Amino acid sequence: MSIVQNNETTVTTIKNFVGGKWIDTATSQYEKVLDPATGAIIAEVPISTKEDVAQAVAVAKEAFQSWKKVPVPKRARILFAYHQLLTEHHEELAKLVTKENGKSYKEAYGEVLRGIECVEFATGAPSLMMGDNLSTIATDIDSQFFRYPIGVVAGISPFNFPMMVPCWMFPLAIACGNTFILKPSERTPILANRLAELLQQAGLPDGVMNIVHGAHDVVNGVIDHADVKAISFVGSEPVAQYVYKSAAAKGKRVQALAGAKNHHIVMPDANRETAIQQIINSTFGSAGQRCMACSAVVAVGDVADDFIEAFKQASDQVKIGNGMDEDVTLTPVIRQDNLKRALGYIEKGIAEGATLIRDGRKEMDSFSEGNFLGPTIFDHVSPDMSIARDELFAPILSIIRAANLDEALEIVNQSRFGNSATLYTDSAKAVRQFREEAEPGMLGVNVGVPAPMAFFPFSGWKNSFFGDLHVNGKDGVAFFTRKKMITSRF
Ligand code: NAD
Repeated sequence: MSIVQNNETTVTTIKNFVGGKWIDTATSQYEKVLDPATGAIIAEVPISTKEDVAQAVAVAKEAFQSWKKVPVPKRARILFAYHQLLTEHHEELAKLVTKENGKSYKEAYGEVLRGIECVEFATGAPSLMMGDNLSTIATDIDSQFFRYPIGVVAGISPFNFPMMVPCWMFPLAIACGNTFILKPSERTPILANRLAELLQQAGLPDGVMNIVHGAHDVVNGVIDHADVKAISFVGSEPVAQYVYKSAAAKGKRVQALAGAKNHHIVMPDANRETAIQQIINSTFGSAGQRCMACSAVVAVGDVADDFIEAFKQASDQVKIGNGMDEDVTLTPVIRQDNLKRALGYIEKGIAEGATLIRDGRKEMDSFSEGNFLGPTIFDHVSPDMSIARDELFAPILSIIRAANLDEALEIVNQSRFGNSATLYTDSAKAVRQFREEAEPGMLGVNVGVPAPMAFFPFSGWKNSFFGDLHVNGKDGVAFFTRKKMITSRF
């Protein structure tokens, strides 16, 4: 069992998953897992130690010796079975996401689908892992390359996508023949165990997939362990940078996906209804806690006033509530600390001279529990203000005015982040200029959350990504494999 009932306290205690078994750790340190909508304690998670990491790495290293020799189509077949199980349990998994993360059931259902699509992509391992060859590179000499797994690899994930982000990592890693250690976010650790349970049910041999719960000690444990060959990290900018630098210094492969500040440019010719609907969902869905969330609108030209007024009116209609409520859009932020941080930024925005045109603090009184903040909008924000520069990860939107597209693009490119940006327009010329000049690595045209599907790379730029091979797509396959060249004389 992944979660056991602790009779003394009636709080469920989460276990680590190592070598196909649910095991306790030697740690005496546990952290509470809270329902963000109610503040209720739903579980406790062990803050595992470096020794727990070492134990899991030893098991995964042993399992690698046989897993790497399992024929690739057989590995893919296990993932086909896993895909089937995930699909059968789609609703149950979505409810777990809502429970521990707080996002709406609709968002959670979509997230689970995004995770399943990663498994779908990984089932293509026999084609994806193919090498290449060329005959007659010299007289009677041919060259070919094969792809091999790299060994024990680790994944470290954030709280905001408990299903999708781990699924960016382990399905492809194991399809390529690696063995895996996952450290889920300590704030959303429950779903990961269910994913491992279903993977075992799908027929994965023991020791191929392992979970070590905890916080920075586990992260440092995998960074420091010589037998961990690659680390896939997703989280905030400072931690991503730290993991990238320290793991790379130890000779590991690293892909570290980091924070974001995503601008949405609204051109005067934009379809207003589409733009408003997309921006509302992108800004306030999941309480702004998406790395692809819109956090700044750049309103272009003299229609800005009209657009902003219509947007503000639409924001008044946003339904706030528990993620399990019908038709809810704006759900709680993950913890009280995150709410306090968001409130601090509202104060900063006011102090810096931005105009608070919608104050989401007024909706807080309607909730006696949970970490709720209503839609909050600042107008007349300048790019140098902290609310425009920093990732707030909350339902707070900055509106920046620009005279034309050139100026709007300058504002977008001023950001140290480069995850995503969207342009709302019907003009092909504007789209081309946006595509050529905007620096974020994932662009949307009239699309509020332009997240690529699993067969494309999730390709943030600048401080939104540290590394070179992105997660998913062919980059993902290259990250989890190494090539061997053979040159033969006949
Ligand atoms: P976080 O950085 O706090 O935590 C991420 C992981 O790092 C967790 O597993 C956590 O336990 C671990 N961690 C935290 N502090 C650490 C430390 N000091 N040393 C070692 N490990 C540490 O991030 P979060 O709050 O869980 O997630 C939100 C962040 O993730 C946002 O910044 C968001 O933009 C980012 N994110 C980025 C992408 C992307 O694709 N670029 C996707 C999802 C989330």
